[in-house]
Amino acid sequence: MKIGILGAGQLSRMLALAGIPLGFDFIFYDPNSSACTAGLGESFQGDYTDYAALDRFLEKADVITYENENIPVATLKHILEKGITLHPSIDAIKAMQDRLLEKNFLNSLNIPTTEYRALNNKNDLNEFIKTFSYPAIIKHRTHSYDGKGQIVIKDADDLDAIDNDQLNNTIVEKFVNFDREISIVGCRDINGNYAFYDICENVHKSGILHKTTNIQNDPMHQDAKTHLTKIMDTLEYVGVCTTEFFVSNKHLIVNELAPRVHNTGHWTIEGAVTSQFENHLRCISGYPLGDTSSTGNFSMYNILSSFPNKKELLSEYNIHLHDYKKAPKKNRKIGHVNFIKNQALETKIAHLLTES
Ligand code: AMP
Repeated sequence: MKIGILGAGQLSRMLALAGIPLGFDFIFYDPNSSACTAGLGESFQGDYTDYAALDRFLEKADVITYENENIPVATLKHILEKGITLHPSIDAIKAMQDRLLEKNFLNSLNIPTTEYRALNNKNDLNEFIKTFSYPAIIKHRTHSYDGKGQIVIKDADDLDAIDNDQLNNTIVEKFVNFDREISIVGCRDINGNYAFYDICENVHKSGILHKTTNIQNDPMHQDAKTHLTKIMDTLEYVGVCTTEFFVSNKHLIVNELAPRVHNTGHWTIEGAVTSQFENHLRCISGYPLGDTSSTGNFSMYNILSSFPNKKELLSEYNIHLHDYKKAPKKNRKIGHVNFIKNQALETKIAHLLTES
């Protein structure tokens, strides 16, 4: 079976690396050239709206999936019109590519989010602050990730400094005083069977994921599974889906959904019986789900900007290193390490990463 992936970044790379042993072939379509998927399958380059280029890619694929949610809905409709299978569905991507629609969707399912409001102008923002007070956070509705373009409003001075033109296509959210940030990665196959990985506890730095640890038997696991089951059921979802939560006073508040494999699931490559990448491929190709049990408590650290000394990293034989083959760039995710959780090693890794 030939799997076509929209996007050729690190998630596509890890999907292909998981799928090749199962006998899948891969092709990739991306608006930009990418080193991540070099050598893993044929690459096609073109805009998502360049249907002539897209069709040359589509005619070679048996099933299409995507590695990010920022694909235009019209492009996905075009794929379906060609009679090609697409997973996860258009409804899933529609619900998850726009923060406003995502929160509306969650609220329609009675799944808690923080207070929020769409912003059209400064008046909307002033009213929100009047009702919910400080602190609040402004976010772009679309194409925003890793905290990019977010503005925190802590007090009246911050509010005064905001101009109308900064509010184009944004929402405002009440800032949550959370105890922990966690996520759950789940998968649903074409017959509607579910499986879920452990809860992950996540630490962000400047809005970017820094580290993740899976927590076996986390007290919030059942609630998180209930929410994600409802989300996937409603959307008749096929594939891997991720939900990020704030935990506040033992209650879950959804921050974000992702209709795809997720950075907080990278530990599953070595830490679970079947990785999130293999399970996504099993779902979209009609195979049964693999075992999502963890084989221990793992830690995953993202490597940003540039690599630390690889020899030094690998001198710890507990370390699994993943290099995405990306060019170094400030705050770009270029790799990660997974290892069985161990405080001494965490301290060493954190130190090596700060130095790089
Ligand atoms: P996001 O891009 O929405 O995932 O935000 C990136 C990070 O910023 C989150 O993982 C949180 O650490 C922080 N953050 C975002 N929104 C909020 C919020 N409403 N309250 C508190 N922290 C937030």
